[in-house]
Amino acid sequence: MKLFAYAHEGFSGSIVTIEVDLRAGIPGTDIVGLPGAAIREARERVRASIRNSGYQYPRDRVLVNLGPADVPKAGSAFDLGIAFAILLCSAQIPHACIDAERVLVLGELGLDGRVRPVRGVIAAVLDAHASGITHVVVAAENASEASAVSGVQVHAVQRLVDLEHLRPIQTPPSEPRSSKGTEKSPFHDVIGQSRAKRAALIAAVGGHHLLLAGPPGSGKTMIARRLPALLPDLDDPIASEATRVHSLSGLLEPDQGLIRRPPFRSPHHSAGPAGVIGGGRGTTPGDISLAHGGVLFLDEAPEFRPGVLQALREPLEDGVIRLSRAGRQYTYPARIQLVIAANLCPCGLFGKGSGHCTCSIQEIQRYWKRIGGALMDRIDIRVPVTSFQGLADESELSASDDSEAYTSQRVRESRKRLSVLYGRAGSRNIRSFMSAESLSIFREAVTHMRLSHRAGESILRVARTISAVDDSPRIDEAHVLEAVQHRRMGESESVWQDWISCIETV
Ligand SMILES: [Zn+2]
Repeated sequence: MKLFAYAHEGFSGSIVTIEVDLRAGIPGTDIVGLPGAAIREARERVRASIRNSGYQYPRDRVLVNLGPADVPKAGSAFDLGIAFAILLCSAQIPHACIDAERVLVLGELGLDGRVRPVRGVIAAVLDAHASGITHVVVAAENASEASAVSGVQVHAVQRLVDLEHLRPIQTPPSEPRSSKGTEKSPFHDVIGQSRAKRAALIAAVGGHHLLLAGPPGSGKTMIARRLPALLPDLDDPIASEATRVHSLSGLLEPDQGLIRRPPFRSPHHSAGPAGVIGGGRGTTPGDISLAHGGVLFLDEAPEFRPGVLQALREPLEDGVIRLSRAGRQYTYPARIQLVIAANLCPCGLFGKGSGHCTCSIQEIQRYWKRIGGALMDRIDIRVPVTSFQGLADESELSASDDSEAYTSQRVRESRKRLSVLYGRAGSRNIRSFMSAESLSIFREAVTHMRLSHRAGESILRVARTISAVDDSPRIDEAHVLEAVQHRRMGESESVWQDWISCIETV
């Protein structure tokens, strides 16, 4: 039987073989194969753990080889595999304890022989499975995570002595996903805000990035928080990537299997690049990767550090984030739907019924410029949120319950229409779905608002999404007009004037 461990390197990593050799000589233990500090310390944990579990630590020279030799190895997840290999090699545990040729072993050891859970189990198990390893031994707390990979036999251990009688755990058959009969809208208890709710629906269908602008307390955060509820479940590849990122960050709940629901992340505006984008010590993923498949919400976006906002450009284009550290490149998935929220002015009182804004036009322009043209350009839908009538109480619920209008079922159906009509990548020419009238309205808007090519394309994409939301086989004038309305804020030089006119027309 051969034992394997796993060396993480950012989002990916390598399978590592564990070999042990015992020979006569001065007693001692050597670990070779680029071990990091935690693995060198494993010597002491493994020795104590073996002794305190009632076994004997070999009185020979113990050589532990972790291969391949050129892959750096870090972390404490190698402990259990090293101890297992030593116990096998010294014949204290029989090879027959497990009926497998190749076994992946992941776990940290306590001095008392307890096996502790480790991060990144699903990444290791996925890669092990891909390389033909079908048996894994993990801490009990990591068992659900490991079981999320189908086709793998998972053995859960709580203590080192449990290695003597390994038996694969039985995973309950995954429940068929329930299709709820009458689905409630995540906005069912929100009174008013029809433009913002509609914008959220369109954004959910087309995967458009969204800007919500309005004074504090206008309901921006609530709309952003409820957007993930409109999104359908993650498909298998995205679900396993999202689970992998959470596992690497140590954020997976003990009994959680695959992450199926789109995640929601909302870092505070004081967060630095390492927190939002990723990087820092050990190149851990940031919020943008933890939001993979879901929503990244930046509240008070102009208050974020310029470096953070600028770093969002690449992931928004490519769906991945590249980090470099010590001459090595790490790539994490980062396909997100971005929602940013901002007050209308630095003091926050502009657009609010009560109070008086004292900001100058220059101050307001500077405030908006902080978001940056390049990032703003990628936001297809911009919505003023100026009044918030609050959440309905019991008596008002039935009146405000527009369950039909904003549901994830409608999002799923609209997405299906989009891909049937326009092809999976939306590759079919949008203009060929527009009537002469729609095209002329579009051209007029582009000329009148002096829109860039990119802004024009953005309007066409949103108009296409709206036609699918409205179950129309072609893009009508109304769809173009609505798309223009969603884009126009912040589009011209005189941001300030534009805002006023937009707010007045809400
Ligand atoms: Zn102000």
